[in-house]
Amino acid sequence: MHVRRRIHVSGIVQGVGFRPFVYRLAASHHLAGQIANTATGVVIEIQGKSEEVDDFVARLPAEAPPLALITGVAISEIGLDEDLEFRILPSDKSEAVRTLIPPDIAVCGDCLRELFDPGDRRYLYPFINCTNCGPRFTIARSIPYDRSRTSMSVFSMCPRCRAEYEDPVNRRFHAQPNACWDCGPRVELRDASGQRALSAEPIAHAAAQLRAGAVVAVKGLGGFHLAVDATNDEAVKRLRERKRRVEKPFAVMVADLEAAEQFCEVDGHDRDLLSRPGRPIVLLPRKESGLISADVAPFNKFLGLFLPYTPLHHLLFAKSSLQGLVMTSGNLSEEPIAIENSEAASRLVGVADYFLVHDREILRRCDDSVVRRVGGRVRQLRRSRGFVPVPVFLEKKHPVTLAVGGELKSTICLLKGNEAFLSQHIGDLENAEAYKFFQETAEHWQEILEVRPSLVAYDLHPDYLATRWALAQREMMAVGVQHHHAHIASCMAENHIKGRVIGFALDGTGYGTDGCVWGGEVLLSDYLAFERAAHLAYVRLPGSSAAVREPWRVAVSHLHAAFGPGLLELPIPFLRQVPRAKMLTVLRMMDRKVNSPLTSSCGRLFDAVAAVADLRHQVNYEAQAAIELEMCRDESAADQPYPFAINEADGALQIDSRPLFRAIVDDVLRGASAGQISQRFHDGLIEVLSRVAQILRERTRLNSVCLSGGTFQNIYLAVGLEQRLRGMGFEVFTHSQVPSGDGGLSLGQAVVAAHLNRSSKE
Ligand code: ZN
Ligand code: ZN
Ligand code: FE
Repeated sequence: MHVRRRIHVSGIVQGVGFRPFVYRLAASHHLAGQIANTATGVVIEIQGKSEEVDDFVARLPAEAPPLALITGVAISEIGLDEDLEFRILPSDKSEAVRTLIPPDIAVCGDCLRELFDPGDRRYLYPFINCTNCGPRFTIARSIPYDRSRTSMSVFSMCPRCRAEYEDPVNRRFHAQPNACWDCGPRVELRDASGQRALSAEPIAHAAAQLRAGAVVAVKGLGGFHLAVDATNDEAVKRLRERKRRVEKPFAVMVADLEAAEQFCEVDGHDRDLLSRPGRPIVLLPRKESGLISADVAPFNKFLGLFLPYTPLHHLLFAKSSLQGLVMTSGNLSEEPIAIENSEAASRLVGVADYFLVHDREILRRCDDSVVRRVGGRVRQLRRSRGFVPVPVFLEKKHPVTLAVGGELKSTICLLKGNEAFLSQHIGDLENAEAYKFFQETAEHWQEILEVRPSLVAYDLHPDYLATRWALAQREMMAVGVQHHHAHIASCMAENHIKGRVIGFALDGTGYGTDGCVWGGEVLLSDYLAFERAAHLAYVRLPGSSAAVREPWRVAVSHLHAAFGPGLLELPIPFLRQVPRAKMLTVLRMMDRKVNSPLTSSCGRLFDAVAAVADLRHQVNYEAQAAIELEMCRDESAADQPYPFAINEADGALQIDSRPLFRAIVDDVLRGASAGQISQRFHDGLIEVLSRVAQILRERTRLNSVCLSGGTFQNIYLAVGLEQRLRGMGFEVFTHSQVPSGDGGLSLGQAVVAAHLNRSSKE
């Protein structure tokens, strides 16, 4: 029996090779019909024997091209037609009104084979790509996504490339960056000034210089990297000095999976994760092989590894025979990554010995993404290249809303319908360059999504640059969202939660509704509002931001809370590490309440424990003390949790750390190691938080818990608390699509503002 069906497929199905795929699939089943692009995806009509049509329908989502993201399939029976074959209908001008730009994708296996095939016309061509791979988001100027609106528009295709591009069954059909030696972009190696071209063999020359220990700035997909041989101590040290980056870990690009296994413990899941088309940096437990320079990630048990993702990367490895290259973003300390050749030359002068550049412009800055596997799930630490601009799909539709994020690890978010578009990583909004990037990003996303939001959501911190920007917008109604409420709402949104939850928002800093520095918060929360049901009891934060860089300050504060002025007489090593005069100054500041705000920060609690355990008194990058405290954990001290007290005051449960610090001091006096202290602290924290959850469940009957905030990047705490709560019968929700840290904040801000707006109209 013959049937004809109409199939609407929605999602990312344009510009990803979907039509040729459907054409081939139909041909293999001897089916007739047609396919056309529509505003929301594609519509297929398919006709033939019913078994064949059934088979076609089943294979459609299962075998879709790697870049396709199908979000809906709707099928209806229609009357038979007279067509004898399957046709791809030409697109009309209004096509792709709503086509999403795909993310940037690593060079695919087919292209790699051609790249290294001496008989292929693109042999060793550093910009080889096809419908299944190559740059997308980073070369797109505007929508719809086609060549004339990308940075490839300045290259006109040669006849052979053009023929591939126009042939529906060719794997380069409508591959917008399609190019070859005859018609496409070129690579150039320049000297340390970034101005003068050096060599006829730029890649081979750069590879030789990397082998010799040089620092080479390499233009990638979303920006410049600074590359050095990861096994060369001197080279890595040189890079650290020149980039002015102390101790903060570098990521390492490895030649292939075998190289990854030499450096780190890599299991089957990790191999899959490393090999994902978006090629994120994956944090993996390092092997004590001694192969990688110790300076790549000092004091760290993990290494961030990633696989080559552009043809140029593959050529660099092939020509250098190196196994691992430090590939760190091309910038100075915390500025945004450089993307233009001239910008790189001026900003990285004195840092790079050579510049490996090319003439395909990067239009959108996009840093590498960072992920890790925790408790069997992939967690985002930085969601950027390879993930954006794919949206997070929400449970329901919302008015168009812009959210501007916080200050550190900033992203913005645009809500449109039931899709939440989180931007690429913008970085720390603490300098003019980053602020400029933030403004460009806000503009650009409104352009590519073709929306003008009427609402803008912002963090309550009055001094954040993003907050000031939001409040200066005249055409948008500004809605302030408390930092930790946004964290919990972000977790609720990606998990499609509707009701009220017990939300644990643990992080370093967020502006509280009372003006204090919050960060150890338990909120009874829905999208509209929250009640602060419990928090870490306040201590003073002497020196405010200085205390973030100098954990010893907050340690003094906690010891003062636990022991009073007698703290100075405690015979513990920590107190000998800090000059007495400095300590007295800090005590005086707290006493007079000068530059010493009250804080319930969980991040600062980790800092204080690290300092009292004599592990680290100053940090060189954000959260360093907490990270090192987690890593030094000594499991021989497991199941002896330190005590906390829970008091009730000011309408909330107060989690009191004074018993904790008294117990730590006792342990220090009997000679316990930092590792033992760390273990007992982690277990104590899990214990007290689960007790709080229990009390709140008894009071509210709520059984759903959300875990959010940067502190949950601590694996032991995240997994331990989740398991404990599950064991108690709670339903526990965590993040997997967006970071639990401030990189995911904008999503929560956006959904809260959208809900508030809706409820104000009802
Ligand atoms: Zn390809
Ligand atoms: Zn060509
Ligand atoms: Fe936060």
